[in-house]
Amino acid sequence: MRVPLFRLQCGVNSYDWGKVGNDSAAAKYAATTAAPDFSIDSEKPYAELWMGTHPSLPSKDLETQRTLLDLVQDNQALMSTEVTERYGGKLPFLFKVLSIRKALSIQAHPNKKLAEKLHARDSQNYPDDNHKPEMTIAITPFEGLCGFRPLAEIAHFLNAVAPLRQLVGEDAASQFESTIKGSEDSDDPAVTQKNKEALRAAFTSLMQSSPEGIEAATKDLIAAAQDSPDSFATSASTPGTNPSNPAELAAIITRLNGQFPNDIGLFVFFFLNFVTLSPGEAMFLKADDIHAYISGDIIECMASSDNVVRAGFTPKFKDVSTLTDMLTYSYAPIEEQKLEPTDYPYAVLNVPAYSSGSSSLLYDPPIEEFSVVKTELKRVGAKATFDGLAGPSIVICTGGTGKITVGHKTEEVKEGYVYFVGATAECIIESTDEGDFTTFKAFCDLTGKEDMVNGH
Ligand SMILES: [Zn+2]
Repeated sequence: MRVPLFRLQCGVNSYDWGKVGNDSAAAKYAATTAAPDFSIDSEKPYAELWMGTHPSLPSKDLETQRTLLDLVQDNQALMSTEVTERYGGKLPFLFKVLSIRKALSIQAHPNKKLAEKLHARDSQNYPDDNHKPEMTIAITPFEGLCGFRPLAEIAHFLNAVAPLRQLVGEDAASQFESTIKGSEDSDDPAVTQKNKEALRAAFTSLMQSSPEGIEAATKDLIAAAQDSPDSFATSASTPGTNPSNPAELAAIITRLNGQFPNDIGLFVFFFLNFVTLSPGEAMFLKADDIHAYISGDIIECMASSDNVVRAGFTPKFKDVSTLTDMLTYSYAPIEEQKLEPTDYPYAVLNVPAYSSGSSSLLYDPPIEEFSVVKTELKRVGAKATFDGLAGPSIVICTGGTGKITVGHKTEEVKEGYVYFVGATAECIIESTDEGDFTTFKAFCDLTGKEDMVNGH
């Protein structure tokens, strides 16, 4: 029988927002194991490398050229019988590398129930009946929007940014302000519910702005950002809530307008948390969480689904009423959107690994479909031995040189190489060169997760 370690050939797609040519990590990684007809075009954007069994861009076993889907359906032991049965013979997760040059659409992913409904109603725009919780780990500095800002910040911008108030409308804006006043930080469920309803009303009112209204408001917004960046979005009457760096905010707004002129996204910005992640930092998006990615290279892992409800920063199909209906309207500071990694207990480091400060860190979101381990080996001979898991794994290298061993099979690993590791197989990753050797391993192991509820 074949050792369950397969090098994968993974496709990269060319959405307009991707980084161009060799700037794109997704393209560079794809090129290391590319099909013979692929070469990087220096003019073309490359957005997403896909690692998994999703039919839109399925990964292949390099050696046999069979799809990974075909292999795992042919031999259920590769994913374990339990995972195979639970996910209908498909990999439970889709693992990706995204290289983002300009903003991706403002979006949310439906929960399971809504996904089934949308798919039944409109299978062209909603190709899957599955939910899509997703996790993002930065591999270069990342910027994005994620979740609603704390209410006091939104109230500040409604007061300090006249074109925003104009689009939301005076009635909705003052209704929002009077509802939340004094209860911005309350955690009484009844009060929070009332605040969320006020937020929903103000946000929905903004999203219903006419194209002419948006165009006029954009003109005023950009004039303010360019004419007086140092006082942009500030108010003399509420100095306590002024943005900490108005000029930086003005620059981001101007940049976004350059990418998507006269787009409602410029104003949605003031309702959402602006998040920056340093390499290694992560955030997790539950079903129905609003978000938009703005720039950077990231590792992304999600439940295997391609359902997106979009409402701005995109030429694609927008479904504003579905989006404004589905959102949870939870509001929280940025820190609460981030996901802290913890030490991964099921990888054993050898002495050279320990003494060089190497690490295996676990990013474990509260869902059953996937977790990710980041392993950084910092010296030649540093080695991490991973226990066999009760489910499948996919490993990608984002830097350095080393090797991977399962049973009697050892393969070389370089930046961009991707491997599939079957269930129950012990797997050893070792650095063979100076410099950091970095891998990300996504996996599904249902042990102890039998009772976990997906999404909500
Ligand atoms: Zn998303």
